[in-house]
Amino acid sequence: MTASPTPLTTRNARSAEIMTRARTRFPGGVNSPVRAFRGVGGEPFVAARGKGACIWDADGNEYIDYVLSWGPLVLGHAPDVVLQALQQAMHDGTSFGMPTEREVELADAIADRMPHLEMVRFTSSGTEAAMSLARLARAITKRDHILKFEGCYHGHADAFLVRAGSGVATLGLPDSPGVPEALARLTITCEYNDLEAVARIAHEVPLAAIMLEPIVGNSGFIQPDPGFIPGLRRLADETGALLVFDEVMTGFRIAYGGAAERFGVTPDLTALGKVIGGGLPVAAYGGKREFMEHVAPTGPVYQAGTLSGNPLAMAAGLATLGALTRAVHDSITAQTEMLVQGLRDIATRHGVPFTAAHAGSMWGFFFRDGVVRTYDDAKQSDVPLFRRFFHAARRRGVSLAPSAFEAAFMSAAHGPREIGETLHRLDEALGAALAERD
Ligand SMILES: *Cc1c(COP(=O)(O)O)cnc(C)c1O
Repeated sequence: MTASPTPLTTRNARSAEIMTRARTRFPGGVNSPVRAFRGVGGEPFVAARGKGACIWDADGNEYIDYVLSWGPLVLGHAPDVVLQALQQAMHDGTSFGMPTEREVELADAIADRMPHLEMVRFTSSGTEAAMSLARLARAITKRDHILKFEGCYHGHADAFLVRAGSGVATLGLPDSPGVPEALARLTITCEYNDLEAVARIAHEVPLAAIMLEPIVGNSGFIQPDPGFIPGLRRLADETGALLVFDEVMTGFRIAYGGAAERFGVTPDLTALGKVIGGGLPVAAYGGKREFMEHVAPTGPVYQAGTLSGNPLAMAAGLATLGALTRAVHDSITAQTEMLVQGLRDIATRHGVPFTAAHAGSMWGFFFRDGVVRTYDDAKQSDVPLFRRFFHAARRRGVSLAPSAFEAAFMSAAHGPREIGETLHRLDEALGAALAERD
């Protein structure tokens, strides 16, 4: 990491050239939409290399990174423990499509931290894990409807690309062409933190699952009201629905043992991803043995994967969870608190409406006052200011998610020096973003 004075990034010729080629080969030049920077405008970040807290783009510009591959890199970029584990695993072979010891070890490591995941099934993406959970919950309960929340993302399976109709929560309408209306009608959406709406629906419609991000990271950073998750547990129990935590993002971020530890509520089923793969493609779904034994081959619910439990991915996940001890988790949490408090102070000095929060090593901010409880609240933040702030931060070597509606992350590689430097740069960036408006 370079020291002050703050660099002002202007070089982007190589990145622009790569993106020109990429746009001829991929829709929007990308393999996942948010990377195209539609949320902020300008040329996308073309990554070349990462190490520790830093990432470098194709033009050699250096950034302190808070995207961290959208969450997985809890130890930072290319940590030595993960590289060593990969090197060892690689020499034994890159894929077998057969049971291996490493996958048992990773399942053990997960169960040590989340004892309610007695059994899991590994998949290669969070989308697959969430999609499989919908199928499993429907099979267990012999019910078809699923309740989800506005602003929660559970991957792009048809069942989840659904939004409620206007006004009160109603039967879902497709959020994307290609999702059949007949299927979308089986997904009901409520506003996050609206326990009364859930109560009304759960008593009216036989629900297979009530599914949520225990802390929302996919419409900015939104936390549940104190009674919300316990209330959902109670409603699920009263009505025979399964409570499903999508912890693909929150798992091993918001607490050492995830949402169950943080909120003291045990879900019936859980999806994991991101951190458990340590930067390689791994996700999982799991829960009590009696539920998981519905999955093939012990049960009739079919789900499979050629690369599921891939040995390189298992090795990366194991090394990551192994290094993420409770002490390390607590230390990343303290660094996150320092950054978030620093940002609040900066915003106060600049007199900008601002709210920021964190849970463990997951954090976020909005340019608006007051607590953000719903996606609608989030949408009332000053998005144009966010865009200017994002670009001003980028020019000063700080990489933030290119959208006002994404959570941010912290890693074990971010120390007090990186946090201090980040705050210094973001202070200048906010000043610049405000000056542009005036
Ligand atoms: C990222 C994410 C997913 C999807 O995972 P992919 O690996 O991108 O398919 C699902 N749910 C949540 C909460 C996520 O953050």
